[in-house]
Amino acid sequence: MYQIIEIESNMPILDEYGNVMRFNDPNSAIELIRILTQKTYKKYKPEVIVDDSWKLREQKRFNSGEYIEPKWINYVYQKTTKIDSLTQKESLDYIMYHKEFLYGSSDDEKSKWIKINVNPEHFLHVSNLDNTKIAFTDNAQKGMLDRQTQMNVASYLVNHCNIDNDLARYIAMYHSNEYSTSQVLFAESSDDIANVYINGPDSCMGGIDHGRNVRKDDEYYSKYQGGSFCQPTRVYGNSDFKLAYLKDKQGRITARTLVLKDSLHYLRIYGDSDRLRSALKDMGYFHDYGATLGKKIRKIWDESKDEYVLPYLDGMQTIDSKSNDTFHIITDSDFDMKCDKTNGFGTQYNGFYINCAECDDEIDDSDNAYIVYYGRNDRRECCSYCARNESFRCQSIHEYVNNRYYSEVDGESYADWIAEDANYCDFQEMATFSECYPVICNENGMIRHCAENVIDDFAFKCRIDNQYYHHEMMAIDDGNDLPRSMFNEPIDMPEYKESE
Ligand SMILES: [Zn+2]
Repeated sequence: MYQIIEIESNMPILDEYGNVMRFNDPNSAIELIRILTQKTYKKYKPEVIVDDSWKLREQKRFNSGEYIEPKWINYVYQKTTKIDSLTQKESLDYIMYHKEFLYGSSDDEKSKWIKINVNPEHFLHVSNLDNTKIAFTDNAQKGMLDRQTQMNVASYLVNHCNIDNDLARYIAMYHSNEYSTSQVLFAESSDDIANVYINGPDSCMGGIDHGRNVRKDDEYYSKYQGGSFCQPTRVYGNSDFKLAYLKDKQGRITARTLVLKDSLHYLRIYGDSDRLRSALKDMGYFHDYGATLGKKIRKIWDESKDEYVLPYLDGMQTIDSKSNDTFHIITDSDFDMKCDKTNGFGTQYNGFYINCAECDDEIDDSDNAYIVYYGRNDRRECCSYCARNESFRCQSIHEYVNNRYYSEVDGESYADWIAEDANYCDFQEMATFSECYPVICNENGMIRHCAENVIDDFAFKCRIDNQYYHHEMMAIDDGNDLPRSMFNEPIDMPEYKESE
């Protein structure tokens, strides 16, 4: 029902019997205002006629269950701090109890607790359009029109209940946990998290390696990347992080992002970022890389590689890997490692940076730089990847040597300047450090060389001239077991002398 107010006097206009004129429809009121204005040159406005009928209607909605009162209205709050057992860092927290807890308490005790004073005429309830928000009746006029205002929990508490930002956010998180029916799913265990990375959107840490057409599963890292023995994102299992993700109707994972467990922050979104961002926003989450400071990820040790398994971290990449046996701590001070690689390992950090001589990647710890030889007197520093994959261990100097300087001697790997001192065995067709001797191979005196250690397999020493000859040229005389070359006269034999 509407009435018309004459603005100057702020009084409703009356009908011929002295009663306030009422209109069911605002348009008929507006039509009359048009006529009145032309007649009187005064200003008018339509106004909803307010009575208590709307309050009854709203109350009934609570009684019928159409409206749900947010539980947090009936709690009392006290600010406290919690101390992280590892980092010793203090952070804000709240104790909350149902207000019945304070019944019978002294006024002094009651004054220590924060109550949420909600205007009862707001008929505050969990929004039916979006459970992560609240809805309320802003004023009686809107109540008459059956219009409710929807708002974020934190905004309502700050603007209408005089609650400070910290407590407002705390209650907003409570509300989101309690009432959210969003499709956002959460993975917390190491298996569940790795599974979402493996089967979810493609990125450096998950999805499909399109070059090889394989998923980046546990095997992938050791098999193709020369990296860690398991999916590196397993370090997020039972840590300070959990993984938020979405599935489509077919059950495929379409988006994911890491979120903090104890605050409404998310990191970089992969996959369908619009949908996940808006879903998280509705739940009260906001994006902040800084929120990872001081947070913990799990330690996983790779026995065979002698290194910690670490994923590529979005945002802050520096960690303290020494302070605790169970966790790495993400920190911007006192860090000793950097999570900046995608092969499942991190990089050591000792306070300075150098670049890999082979791939030019940053190496940030002298202990993690591998000395690689590029020549007899040319030592350079390389990253662990290049040391393992672009160089080899020389069996003589027992150091890494770049692959361009590779030589094989006696079936083993040697730097080519070492191999310069090797001989070549024509019979085995290989370089060797054994002494090689000339072997006469035919009647024309063709010489081939043979390594000392295998020479008996191919040649014999002639008793006449003490030279090596190929086995095929062996002659054995009656009465002398020592062989001679068939081209040498048996001048030492009596029969030969006699026949002379
Ligand atoms: Zn390198």
